[in-house]
Amino acid sequence: MKWGLIGASTIAAQWMIPAIRETGGEIVGVMSSIPTRGADYAAEHGIANSTADLDALLAMDIDAVYISTVNDLHKPQTLAAAAAGKHVLSEKPLATSMGDAADMIHACRNAGVVMATNHHLRHAATHKAMAERVQAGALGRPLAARVFHAVYLPEHLQGWRLNDPKAGGGVVLDITVHNADTLAHLLGEYPKTVTARTQNAGMGQGLEDGCMGIWEFPSGLQAYTHEAFTTPFARTGLEVHGDAGSLYADNVMTQQPVGSVKLVTAQGEEALKIEHHNLYVQGISRFVEAIGGAELACDGVAGYRSMAVAMATLESAKTGTTVTVDYGEFNPH
Ligand code: NDP
Repeated sequence: MKWGLIGASTIAAQWMIPAIRETGGEIVGVMSSIPTRGADYAAEHGIANSTADLDALLAMDIDAVYISTVNDLHKPQTLAAAAAGKHVLSEKPLATSMGDAADMIHACRNAGVVMATNHHLRHAATHKAMAERVQAGALGRPLAARVFHAVYLPEHLQGWRLNDPKAGGGVVLDITVHNADTLAHLLGEYPKTVTARTQNAGMGQGLEDGCMGIWEFPSGLQAYTHEAFTTPFARTGLEVHGDAGSLYADNVMTQQPVGSVKLVTAQGEEALKIEHHNLYVQGISRFVEAIGGAELACDGVAGYRSMAVAMATLESAKTGTTVTVDYGEFNPH
C-alpha cells in the first residue's frame, strides 16, 4: 500500500515509518508545515517527496494517509484526505472537540474510506492475553480495574503538550484516551461516569501534567486511573480484579513490546505466556486488512469514545463533580 504522511512528527520517525515499511507499505511523501524541515525529514527517513501543501500530498499516488500532527489539525486534514478518497489512520486524540471528532467519522463514512484511530495498546500481546482471560471468565465477575500510566515526558517532547491548549495539549487528552480505549477493549464496556482531579506538578505550563480518575462502568465495575508526564521512576501497570481471580500486568502501558502478566486464582499463580510483537505493526496490519474488507480493530468511533472519556475527565476536574460521559450519537450503552 502507498502512504502519505501528514506531519513530520516524532511518533512517525520513531515507530510508524519503520512499522509501515515492515508491513510492506511504501511511503511516497511527507507533509510538513515547514518546507526545509520537511525536506530534511524526508531525506533522513528515505522518503522520496516532501511538501508543505496538503493538496500536493493528497495529489500524490497514495492510498492512505497517516496523520500525526498536533491534535487540532487532525480534523481539517482528515476531511481533506477523505474528500480526496484516501483512507485515514489518525492519531489520538482524534481532535480537540467532540464535534470535530464526529465530523471526521462522518466525512470518512460519506467518502467511503476507512478511518482508524492509532490506539496502539489494544494491539499489545499483553493486553490481548488479558482480554482473552477476562472474556473467558478466568476472573469470574470483574469488579475493579487499576491503570498505572504515569510516565515521564521526554525533554524533546516538552513543547505543545505542556503549553498549548489550542493544539490539544495536557496529559488528559494525551494519555487518558489510551486508558479509556485499553479498558474498553479489555472489559467490553465504556465508563458511564467519571470523577477526576487533575494536577499541575510544575511541568505543565498552564495545562495539567497529572490526573487521577475513578470511572464507573455499566456493569458496576469501578476503575482507578493515574496519568502523568512527571514521574521518571514510576512503573506502568494494569490490574483487573474479579470475584474469582486477579490479573496483574507490569510495565504494559508503553509503546515497547514488553511487560508481563500474572493470573492469580484459587489454583495459584500463573505467568501468562506472552509472544511479544510490535504494537504499531499490528495496528497498521489491521488497518490495511480493513481496507481489503476485514473487520477494523480500532475505528473512528473507538477514537471518539475514548475522547469522550477524556472530555468528561477534564469537565469533572474543572467542576469538582462526577460527570456522566456524553458519548453523543456514538453511545455504546
Ligand atoms: P511532535 O511534536 O513530534 O510532532 C507534532 C508536530 O509538531 C509535527 O507534525 C511537526 O509539524 C511539529 N514538529 C515536530 N518536531 C518539530 C520541530 N523540531 N520543530 C518544529 N516543529 C516540529 O509530536 P508527537 O509525534 O509526539 O505526536 C504527534 C501526534 O501523535 C499527536 O496527536 C500525539 O497525540 C500522537 N501520538 C500518539 C502516540 C501513540 O502511541 N499512538 C505516541 C505519541 C504521539 P510539521 O509536520 O508541520 O512539521
